Amino acid sequence: MKFAADCMLGTLAKWLIILGHDVAYDSRIEDRDLVRLARRQGRTILTCDRRLVQRRDARDHILIRSQDLRAQIRQVLEERGLRIRKDRLFRRCIKCNRRTRPAARASIRAEVPPYVYRTRRRFTRCPRCRRVFWRATHVSRMLEDLKERGFSEPPPSPYPLTHARVRRSTK
Ligand SMILES: [Zn+2]
Repeated sequence: MKFAADCMLGTLAKWLIILGHDVAYDSRIEDRDLVRLARRQGRTILTCDRRLVQRRDARDHILIRSQDLRAQIRQVLEERGLRIRKDRLFRRCIKCNRRTRPAARASIRAEVPPYVYRTRRRFTRCPRCRRVFWRATHVSRMLEDLKERGFSEPPPSPYPLTHARVRRSTK
């Protein structure tokens, strides 16, 4: 699904991207621009701002009720009848929302911590910001939690969320 998250919901936006959704997020966007972007691109607005959802041009929205991240994710999945689909997981960059591409393990060696390189087999790269992604344990925990709450289809073997912040070549 396509969403546009308000500036307060960066973490929710990130997790929906991990689950494979197309989420526009900009921490500095004004309400007016958020609504305009959502309409233009056919996105559902995610917001915790009660005034914003009263706007006539913001009809397609989900008013997020909880401060708790897990509850927020569950609300979105519930309200739109979404399920976790393993073939959709980890296909987008959590920074720029672009589709990532598989990266050969040898090609990312200098960009990830040695432990990660030794223990992970699958990596992807964002074609835009060049970040490398792999599956981290806290992602697996979140997916297990969602599965236990009935959102089903967890991946059989986990994959990335963590990204390499520092590239050796830039040191
Ligand atoms: Zn990126």
